[in-house]
Amino acid sequence: MSGKTAFPRGLVWLRNDLRLHDNTALYRAATSCGAVAAIFIACPDTWNSHGDGDPVVNFRLACLGELQQRLAERNIPLYFLEVPDFDRVPAALAQVAHKLQVDAVFANAEYPLNERRRDEAVRASLKAIDVPIEYSTDRTLVPPGAVRTGSGDAYKVFTPFKRAFISHCIGQFGAGFSPLPAPKKISPDEDWPHWLAVDGDSNLVQTIPDTVDGYAALPRGDGQILGWAPGEKAAAQHLRAFAEHIDGYQDERDFPAIEGTSRLSPYLNCGAISIRRCAQLALEANDGRWSGGSDGISCWLGELIWREFYTHLIVAFPHLCKHKPFKPETDRVPWSYDKKVFQRWCDGQTGVPIVDAAMRQLNETGWMHNRLRMVVASFLTKNLLIDWRWGERYFMERLIDADFAANNGGWQWAASTGTDAVPYFRVFNPYSQSKKFDAGGEFIRRFVPELRNLSAREIHCPDAVADYPLPICDVSQSRKHAIEVFADLK
Ligand SMILES: Cc1cc2nc3c(=O)[nH]c(=O)nc-3n(C[C@H](O)[C@H](O)[C@H](O)COP(=O)(O)OP(=O)(O)OC[C@H]3O[C@@H](n4cnc5c(N)ncnc54)[C@H](O)[C@@H]3O)c2cc1C
Repeated sequence: MSGKTAFPRGLVWLRNDLRLHDNTALYRAATSCGAVAAIFIACPDTWNSHGDGDPVVNFRLACLGELQQRLAERNIPLYFLEVPDFDRVPAALAQVAHKLQVDAVFANAEYPLNERRRDEAVRASLKAIDVPIEYSTDRTLVPPGAVRTGSGDAYKVFTPFKRAFISHCIGQFGAGFSPLPAPKKISPDEDWPHWLAVDGDSNLVQTIPDTVDGYAALPRGDGQILGWAPGEKAAAQHLRAFAEHIDGYQDERDFPAIEGTSRLSPYLNCGAISIRRCAQLALEANDGRWSGGSDGISCWLGELIWREFYTHLIVAFPHLCKHKPFKPETDRVPWSYDKKVFQRWCDGQTGVPIVDAAMRQLNETGWMHNRLRMVVASFLTKNLLIDWRWGERYFMERLIDADFAANNGGWQWAASTGTDAVPYFRVFNPYSQSKKFDAGGEFIRRFVPELRNLSAREIHCPDAVADYPLPICDVSQSRKHAIEVFADLK
């Protein structure tokens, strides 16, 4: 497929890649078709069964609304279709392709198991009407599976994966990536209809709703959702702002009271910014080096590689997508399913200030600092011995950056059930973490007003304070118990 007229009419199927710039599928469509339309298909029942919550769904739709305007400026209409679940997508998309008389469909690959199954079913349904679909690598820097051990296996440990990943990138892309431009203005095609009936009860429309079936519409003060401005422009602003202090990343990234990290995760997850653009900015600032050079930059690039690693794992080990631990023996942990204890963790009412501040940050802003994600996940799964899948699900429901691969990877890491996870005998002590990373108690004061008047010495492990609960457990006893439980698995 090359040249502008390979196909008269193309359809871009947008998913979590909601941007104009450096969008491989959109670029491929715009450079190989005379006229292009885009479609987004909402599947609320499937999203709900995957645990996606109001924050991530609202943010996705808000980013989609922003993208629609930008596409319209280029004469690319964006259609919206709502069907209950993934099972309806193959037939619906084939109908749309047929009714819009498109010659080819373009999409960027998605990697969780259900998404891959859906995409194969779509390929078959389109093939039946002679419409090809092209899936591009776009969500990751390299396609999952491309980086393998000498014997051809998937890597299970991060450090060797990182080494091989970097050599692969250097071999494949040289000094860096070349992000693709936004599509140029396409000549208007008056034939695109404004509206189409699909499958009897669903309509293809050109209006992006604030929410979809079963989801609440969150308030949009100043167009923001939980304080996050949606869209590609906001994402680019975050990247630019972060670039100003990227050199300090390694020193600042562990302190939740300061903005030491990029806060790009909501944008990377819905695709309002491309991973190539982020990596390229860091590489350029580091003279093309993945490691060495600026400690801050190479450390940040390392985090982008964790993102690749977890995506690579869910493809190589599909049982991860079926609520299974990577290490099967850890399914024998006698996990607790105490709903009252779990609810106190969810509500930020455990009586352990750093844990409560972190959970309240999540509930109020849809985001949590990485250091604290590790602390609260360790607390839930080790000190409270609650099944990591409950925590994983709660994060999916509440995070505005919810991403199955990173979330599952993070939870299995903290619970010591994953590959290359934290060893079971290294349990985070929330009080020491609090003293080390929020020494003055500034972060705790921000989210736990009951403790606002305590001194930096008292705030991490307070004596009885009015309106604030006593600790839900004895941290050292529960730590000892968790270690014994895990040791018994051997
Ligand atoms: C229990 C747990 C659950 C998590 N759930 C998610 C999730 O649902 N979605 C999500 O995007 N990240 C998740 N993470 C990873 C990490 O906490 C967030 O990516 C990070 O806090 C986002 O903030 P940032 O954009 O400022 O990150 P930065 O520190 O600026 O890093 C840049 C980017 O690198 C990627 N990244 C950084 N750290 C990790 C990591 N440990 N694993 C995978 N990718 C990483 C993210 O895309 C991030 O935006 C989870 C971590 C843990 C421990």
